[in-house]
Amino acid sequence: MSSLTASFAMPAAENPTVAVMDAVFAHHGLNARYLNCEVTPESLGDAVRGALAMGFVGFNCSLPHKVKVIEFLDELAPSASIIGAVNCVVIKDGRLIGENTDGKGFVESLRTVADPAGKHFVIFGAGGAARAIAVESALASASTITIVNTTASRGQDLVDRINADTPATATLVHWDDTFEVPTTTDIVVNATSVGLFPDVDARLNIDPNSLLPSMVVADVIPNPPRTRLLADAAARGCTTLDGMGMLVNQGRVAIKLWTGLNVDGQIMRRTLEELFT
Ligand code: NDP
Repeated sequence: MSSLTASFAMPAAENPTVAVMDAVFAHHGLNARYLNCEVTPESLGDAVRGALAMGFVGFNCSLPHKVKVIEFLDELAPSASIIGAVNCVVIKDGRLIGENTDGKGFVESLRTVADPAGKHFVIFGAGGAARAIAVESALASASTITIVNTTASRGQDLVDRINADTPATATLVHWDDTFEVPTTTDIVVNATSVGLFPDVDARLNIDPNSLLPSMVVADVIPNPPRTRLLADAAARGCTTLDGMGMLVNQGRVAIKLWTGLNVDGQIMRRTLEELFT
């Protein structure tokens, strides 16, 4: 039987994920490649069919494809279905399965310092990252989730999803004033884009004195890993968790889904730190 191979040349955009994936594949002797392809919205269906045709084990998709890609898939994993967005596709036995590893990566990272079960969460933001974190934390048995967002309608949509589709209880705070974190809060999460490079001096509109040493304070911002929020929280004795941990773990979860392997997160983190510092 003859086998056909095809080689493609394509322009590659700068993407730190490629360096991180290459480093961890090399570390584990995995004969695999992670490619970064620019895909226009009009070409998304063709790109997905192409991945299937070329025997890929899966792919990640970023904005603006996270919702649109769903129409080209065969199946959605439960959390991706509630979140309503897919950042990772697994191709198994010719079927395309949509997953969302952002929230799973957050929960994996959180578990290094606290068990989400039974905890009271305050989450700032109601965009893609907040949706993934809130839903996955709720599915990991969080007790209550307070969504704090400047656009009330977006926040309410997330609250409704959590209350309808998960065991957790969610409420909305419309963020139109300086927010005081309630003293009963266990886990505080910045899931807004505030603090992302180059706006590293931007601060959340919260009272930093309401952060207590009993709280875990997490940030989704991977670059810089030490945000203003985390510096304020550390100064008040809180346990802190940076966005690099979430980024590394969402990649680890994706590799596990594609290959079944548990890869070394330290290699991934070191590669990211070299790129971001
Ligand atoms: P979205 O654009 O979907 O959502 C952004 C959210 O931030 C919205 O809720 C928005 O509020 C809120 N927001 C923006 N600016 C402000 C402000 N000045 N004050 C208060 N709220 C604000 O973005 P994503 O959710 O996709 O991404 C958010 C961040 O998460 C990004 O910085 C991204 O880099 C990071 N991220 C990190 C990951 C990781 O692995 N570490 C993974 C995915 C994302 P409103 O709804 O009112 O507009």
